[in-house]
Amino acid sequence: MSPSSDPAGGRGTGPATASASRAESTDPVRALLLRGGRVAGPTGTAVRDVLVVGAQVVAVDADLPGVRLPGVPVTEVDLAGRLVLPALVDQHSHPTGGGGGGGPHTQNLPIRFEQYTTAGIGTVVGCLGHDTVVRTHEALLARVRALRAQGLTGYLFTGEIGHPPATLTGDVRRDLALFDEVRGVKAAVGEVGAVGTVDELRRLAGAVARGSRTGGKPPVLHLHLGPDRRGVDLVARAVADGLVPAAMVTVTHVNWNPDVLAAAIDLAHAGVGVDVTACIRPDYFPGAVPPHRAVAELLDRVPVEQVTVTSDAGGAHPHDGALVPHRPVLLLDVLRHCLADRVAPPHLLAAVFAGNAARRLGLTGVGTVTPGGRADLLVVDGSGREPITLLLGGRTVVEAGVPTVTDPVGDPPAPDPVEAPV
Ligand SMILES: [Zn+2]
Repeated sequence: MSPSSDPAGGRGTGPATASASRAESTDPVRALLLRGGRVAGPTGTAVRDVLVVGAQVVAVDADLPGVRLPGVPVTEVDLAGRLVLPALVDQHSHPTGGGGGGGPHTQNLPIRFEQYTTAGIGTVVGCLGHDTVVRTHEALLARVRALRAQGLTGYLFTGEIGHPPATLTGDVRRDLALFDEVRGVKAAVGEVGAVGTVDELRRLAGAVARGSRTGGKPPVLHLHLGPDRRGVDLVARAVADGLVPAAMVTVTHVNWNPDVLAAAIDLAHAGVGVDVTACIRPDYFPGAVPPHRAVAELLDRVPVEQVTVTSDAGGAHPHDGALVPHRPVLLLDVLRHCLADRVAPPHLLAAVFAGNAARRLGLTGVGTVTPGGRADLLVVDGSGREPITLLLGGRTVVEAGVPTVTDPVGDPPAPDPVEAPV
C-alpha cells in the first residue's frame, strides 16, 4: 500500500467489545479494496479480495466487482499474492515497562504505540509482574487507555506474580466486575511468593469465575510458570481433582525448557491452554526451547485451539553489564520463523497468533479476517522476510515496515529491528 493509497479509515466504531472505548473519529469514511491477497480465513488460506469500509471488513470474496459507494472514496490496492492475516493478538505484555527485579536501575521504559504496530500487533493485553509496588494497576489501566486512544485494542489482566495479588480495587472480583478493560487475572506458580497450594489456586479460580460472571465476560486465569516444573504439577493436581476448571486456565512461558514444555503438553491434554513466550529463547535464556520450535511441537501434539504465542514484551535480562529489553517485535520474529519453516498453514498460524487468544478473552471483533470484523489486518509475504504493512481499524499504521502513526510521547522513533534467528 503506497502512501497515496492510504485508506485512512480512521478510528471508527468497530464491532462488539474490541473497540468499546476507542476514540470516535471525525474523519470522513473511506473504503479500501485489497485485491489478490492470500487471505488466512477461519478454515483455510485462499486468494481473496477484501473490502474495508471505515473501520470494518465488510466483504471477503474470490473476485469482488468494482465497488461504488455514494460519497465514499474507494481505493484499490493490488496485494499481488501477499499474505493477509489478522493483526496479532498479544495477550501477555508489559506496556508500562517491566523488569525492575534487580533494583530501580533495572526497570524498563514503557512501550510506545509504534513498537507494537511495527511488530504486527493490533490487540494488547497488559499485565504486571513481580513489581506491584512501583508499578501499579492504575498506571497500567491508564497506559492501556492511552494505547486505545491511539488505535490499538487494549485490555489488561489484574493480579500479578505474588499472592494474594495486588489489584485495582483490592479484590479481583471487583476488578473483573467493574472494569471492561480487565479481561482476566494473571497469577503465577513456581515462583517465590506466588500461589503455592492447590487450595490457594482453587480459591483464586473461584474468584475469577464469580467476578467474570458479574462482569459478563469469560473467566480467564492466566498462569505464569517458572522454569521449575513443580509449578506445573500444582496446576495439574488442581485440574485433575476438578478444583479448577481447565477451560479457564492458560499456562504461559511453557518453553522455559523441554521439561516444562512436556509437562505443559500433559496439561493441554487435560484442556488447559498453552502459551509460548517469544522472549524465552536460547540466546536470552540458555536451555529454552526456541519459541517457533515450541509452537511446532505443540501443534503436533495439542489441538490447535489451545495454542497461543505472546511477546511478554517490556521485561529485560542482563547481559554484559547492560539490560537487553524484550521488545514486541520478538512476537513477529516467531511468526516469521513459523512462516519460513512452514510450521503450519497460514490459517492455523493466524489462529495461534491471533484468533485463539481473542476467542479465549471473549473479544468478538478481532483475531480473524471475516466480514463484520474490525479491519485489523497484517500484510506479510509468505516467507515472512519482507517488511510488514499493518492496518488498524482500516487505517494504515505501518507501511512497508515504517510506522505512519507514532506515539505522541517521545522522540521520533525508528522501528525495532527484526530479531536475529534464534
Ligand atoms: Zn510477563
